[in-house]
Amino acid sequence: IVQVEGLTKRFGQRSVLSSLDVRIGHGEFVALLGRSGSGKSTLLRVLAGLDTEVEGSVRVEGTVSVAFQQPRILPWRRVWRNVVLGLRDQGRDRSLAERALAEVRLDGHADAWPRTLSGGEAQRVSLARALVREPDLLLLDEPFGALDALTRLAMHRLVEQLWREHRPGVLLVTHDVDEALQLADRVLVLGQEGRIVSEYPLALARPRRIDDQLGVRAEILN
Ligand code: ATP
Ligand code: MG
Repeated sequence: IVQVEGLTKRFGQRSVLSSLDVRIGHGEFVALLGRSGSGKSTLLRVLAGLDTEVEGSVRVEGTVSVAFQQPRILPWRRVWRNVVLGLRDQGRDRSLAERALAEVRLDGHADAWPRTLSGGEAQRVSLARALVREPDLLLLDEPFGALDALTRLAMHRLVEQLWREHRPGVLLVTHDVDEALQLADRVLVLGQEGRIVSEYPLALARPRRIDDQLGVRAEILN
């Protein structure tokens, strides 16, 4: 569903991504790790079609939803309207939004104003908005960063369940190696030179066996 070949992205003189090749198959769940500043969010912006000033070829099929690292929520729209922003059917949309909000554990926040949300709540509104669209490709940029451990686990379960039901392609950016190993079929590591430096296929049974994860974990953290 994603086919990137020879992607180079420069900011001025500096190449953030250089000759990058990335493929994501239909229904494949890929995690992207890499140091802060290595270009993960930049890659997501390119895949989402928000940055087209690039060299190389970028092909993305189907509909795409993004949950950005900094949740983009319109402050002048109530929470539920942010969730179904741009969708059509007003009457149906309200109940759709409420269901999605319940799934991200924000029941009762439908009529709240965005400025009253905590950081983690805003992240989950953004996640709900991405999920409600049932896209062919889901781009998630550190969507669980601001969450406590229990809520994060609940969100893992939610994303995994959604993935099982609708089988979107997923690219999940995260700094959490264990999260990547638990959720993804494949883990990519973006190096400082703007290339994928390592790739770990995890074509293992779900739920993952802990000893299968340990070897990969040790290698990634090396
Ligand atoms: P983090 O893990 O901290 O979110 P990241 O891997 O997502 O980091 P990016 O946000 O993709 O990193 O940024 C990669 C590099 O590109 C950074 O050094 C950043 O300063 C630079 N950069 C990003 N956007 C711009 C821009 N619009 N203009 C100039 N430089 C930029
Ligand atoms: Mg980022």
